[in-house]
Amino acid sequence: TMSIRNIIDALRGETGFIYTAKARELSKKGFKVINFGVGQPDFPTPKHIVEEAKNALDKGFTGYTDVAGIPELRQAIADYLNERYNSDVKADEVIVTPGAKAALFLAFAAYVKPGDEVIIPDPSYYMYPEITKFLGGKPVYVPLKWMGGDKGFELDLNSIENSITSRTRAIVVNNPHNPTGAVFSQREMSKLLEIAMERNILVIVDEIYDNFVYDGDFKSFISFNNWRDYVVYANGFSKTFSMTGWRLGYLVVRKEVASKLTKLAVNIWTCATSFVQKAGVKALKNSWDSVREMIETFKRRRDVMVNELRKVSGVEVFKSKGTFYVYPNIEKVLKKMGIDVETFANRLLDEKHVVVLPGTLFSETELGKTFIRLSFALGEELIAEGIKRLREFVERL
Ligand code: PLP
Repeated sequence: TMSIRNIIDALRGETGFIYTAKARELSKKGFKVINFGVGQPDFPTPKHIVEEAKNALDKGFTGYTDVAGIPELRQAIADYLNERYNSDVKADEVIVTPGAKAALFLAFAAYVKPGDEVIIPDPSYYMYPEITKFLGGKPVYVPLKWMGGDKGFELDLNSIENSITSRTRAIVVNNPHNPTGAVFSQREMSKLLEIAMERNILVIVDEIYDNFVYDGDFKSFISFNNWRDYVVYANGFSKTFSMTGWRLGYLVVRKEVASKLTKLAVNIWTCATSFVQKAGVKALKNSWDSVREMIETFKRRRDVMVNELRKVSGVEVFKSKGTFYVYPNIEKVLKKMGIDVETFANRLLDEKHVVVLPGTLFSETELGKTFIRLSFALGEELIAEGIKRLREFVERL
């Protein structure tokens, strides 16, 4: 019907599309573009994982699987979470999905009804408000607290509490946090769960970057004793194992909900790709050395990026504790240049062939208007060269 058409028309597409499209044009013309807009590791999927998928294909493991995933993968995911986070997840509380996004979609679809409010700490990953709106719900944006370059971003727990109404259904927590690079503390997570319990609100948790933690005391929501009563937990293989295109993720939720959600999943995608699931088992159970090496590399890249950015006058940058993004405040630069953040990103690309994403792509509040997001999922030399160009662009004026 028309109303559904309108909802889809209003959805925001892939973030940063105009910038990546423009970057592609520039590359075609022969310019060397440095792209800080990337949202995936630049590492190949580890060999043993690729080999396992090939094995599964050779053995003819190419049919439909159980809707919730092959039993060995559900068990491997439960084992992994329990070992790592000292939790008590059971295999039948795990639904394997084609990516964390699909897991999050199930979570939102299960709980958000028309008229429901969903509290979204802002800035945020773009899909949370979009899916909320798609389901007829209302995103309620609560800005993070910007504590300056040394301390970074914190959840504003008072504001979150004050934003709760009788229509509030859920709070979304992405930790480590895209786009700010924040890792929210154990204290913040405990307090948030307390609020959710008191007010009987669901916490939709996205911990897709849980392996990309460099500093700080990361506390997984799945490690709370009573997670079952208040938490729907999404994670996946995309970032940790450099498997973005494989599409493999999972949702953890108490058993009764999990079995109901498979009814929705079977009507949309039936199952995650069979041989990809086999590769997923291998990823979790085999050596994690390649993951650890990758994280070490990312940590060095973060240091390079932050050090270089701190040399640029007017840029205030928090040293990300997690993810592979930094989210510097360039308010002073914008004031001096007399432009807004989108013009900044466009001109930097046109004149210096460097892609950064304006905070407005991630934010409905003031926290978008003076910030940019840069990914450090590229080599140290490229990072240094890109920030050098940014510095030339800023300081020339
Ligand atoms: N959640 C966050 C916060 C992300 O940044 C991303 C990818 O950029 C995803 C989820 C999507 O993960 P997947 O590839 O598993 O769907």
